[in-house]
Amino acid sequence: MKANKVVVFTTGGTIMSRFDSATNTIVQAENGDHLLEALSAFHCGYEIEVRDFCNRPSPHMDPEIGITLAREISSALQRQEVCGAVVAHGTDTIEEMSYFVSLILSESKPVVFTGAMKSSSEEYIDNIGNLLGAIRIAGNPASRDRGVLVFFNQDIFSARYVSKSDTNHMNSFVASSGGPMGAVINGEVLYYHIPCKQAVYPVTQIKADVQLVKACFGMSPLLIDACVEAKVDGIVIEALGAGNLPPKLLPSIRRALDSGIPVVIASRCAHGPSLAIYAYEGGGAPLKAMGCLFAGDLSGPKTRIKLMVLLSAGCSPEQIAAHFPTGAAG
Ligand code: ASP
Repeated sequence: MKANKVVVFTTGGTIMSRFDSATNTIVQAENGDHLLEALSAFHCGYEIEVRDFCNRPSPHMDPEIGITLAREISSALQRQEVCGAVVAHGTDTIEEMSYFVSLILSESKPVVFTGAMKSSSEEYIDNIGNLLGAIRIAGNPASRDRGVLVFFNQDIFSARYVSKSDTNHMNSFVASSGGPMGAVINGEVLYYHIPCKQAVYPVTQIKADVQLVKACFGMSPLLIDACVEAKVDGIVIEALGAGNLPPKLLPSIRRALDSGIPVVIASRCAHGPSLAIYAYEGGGAPLKAMGCLFAGDLSGPKTRIKLMVLLSAGCSPEQIAAHFPTGAAG
């Protein structure tokens, strides 16, 4: 039997919303029926099965929902007639949910996340183009074994590198390293490069509390101290530039490391890896010498997800350190 069915999981977000002129706000639609109806005007060559997984704005998403979503995607992909899956998701946390799913799902059939920057009935509309493109990508055999993908505004991204860069524009999605992996042009799916292989950790629940702290000049250690006092399981710091911190934070970081809390240094810069290269007090080199790990080219939010998954998979401190090798691609 030729696999020709794409399963579309709707989860909520703007792609499931409409603009309400009476209140001047964007409100959730009841279900994905309006999308299906709009899609029927186009012929993409795949049979589409819609699954109303949930209807939540993406700030209401969390790793527990991600585990259930990954499980349902996995069982859909095991069906012979299914060639790929699409997840229609809110854009605010799609960079985290797609990366989270990519860390726990090992299927080679394509999984493509998409959403919309504009709701139905706004002046500019991207919902149908994004959904249709995502279906074409999910149905295309060339998309197999490329990890979880994210599609917006004609560009195909790896879940590992994608992030939302603009609150309102339709071209909001960018890749922190290497640019888009491909594109959909006139209905054709094109790939420019092959993604790096990524390890998969088959966790079934997330128990780890990992906090993300953004560094800024002259900041006090208050937030790091609060993390140590709350006995969190891990701390990710979006450090300054290449991975440097105000010296005032060092005693608190020392306390965190001494109490067995892993501290991972990402960068608050939009592009480039965190690196242990500056030798001054608070610089990356002494942070590394203290025992901090470096996130490489993973963003702060994605580093937090990775540390949560590693801790929940029961990795030892040595195993965690091995998954954050110092260098560009951690
Ligand atoms: N706030 C919405 C959400 O993330 C925005 C969107 O979907 O684009 O669910």
